[in-house]
Amino acid sequence: MGRKFGQHFLVDLTHIQRIIGAIPKDGFDSIIEIGPGKGALTDALYLLCPKMHAVEIDDRLIVRLKQRYPEAHIHHQDALIFDYSSVPGDKVLCIGNLPYEISSPLLFLLKDFPSISHMIFMVQHEFAERAASLSGRLGVMLHVFYQVDYLWKVLPEAFIPPPGVNSAVMRLTRRPKALTEKISELDEILRFAFSRRRKMMRQIFREQASVLATASIDPTARPESLSLAQWISFAESV
Ligand code: SAM
Repeated sequence: MGRKFGQHFLVDLTHIQRIIGAIPKDGFDSIIEIGPGKGALTDALYLLCPKMHAVEIDDRLIVRLKQRYPEAHIHHQDALIFDYSSVPGDKVLCIGNLPYEISSPLLFLLKDFPSISHMIFMVQHEFAERAASLSGRLGVMLHVFYQVDYLWKVLPEAFIPPPGVNSAVMRLTRRPKALTEKISELDEILRFAFSRRRKMMRQIFREQASVLATASIDPTARPESLSLAQWISFAESV
């Protein structure tokens, strides 16, 4: 199997069962699996929802997936260009053991599809830690849209072939409404702030002293120490 698609197949049954156990019990209109590969998670997902969707980029895996899961919709496509709004339902679970290169762009993409209400993803351990914290643009932005839960760490031996890094399972639960409507303003502020993350807020935003005061932001604070409420207040005050 080529490494180009980040193909590390999950073989540890304990983790497979725990991932399935992490699916909320409140019922879904549909399930979309990203990168089903050889079906480590798909067997159980198919039992839950035979009409599930799966998006797999590697043509060598497609025939087998179609044979093994005849009722499922198997899409031979790149998950970064798949149209998630084509999957019917208002409450859709998106799940997968992700190829790590696409974790960040995929999460930024999925936030714009409101029907994707829950996500459970295996990602690189450091990525999950960043996503679950407010230490960078990714984490802050995700928290505006979701409750983000880091669930547990997964060691390389759980996969064949083992990846060179630790992994983790994370869950994102969409909030009924994003915490602010000023998303583009917030994104611009976050990009600017975290590209100068060692500096103090007053040095980063020299012209915005009054906005920092309105948002109750300590001018000597560094970006990593701000709360979600402060970032939102900042975006809404500019
Ligand atoms: N779910 C399987 C498992 O747990 O064993 C496979 C996980 S493997 C880490 C990642 C899977 O995603 C592979 O099957 C790979 O071919 C597929 N993949 C890689 N890049 C993709 C992309 N851009 N869109 C869809 N699938 C992709």
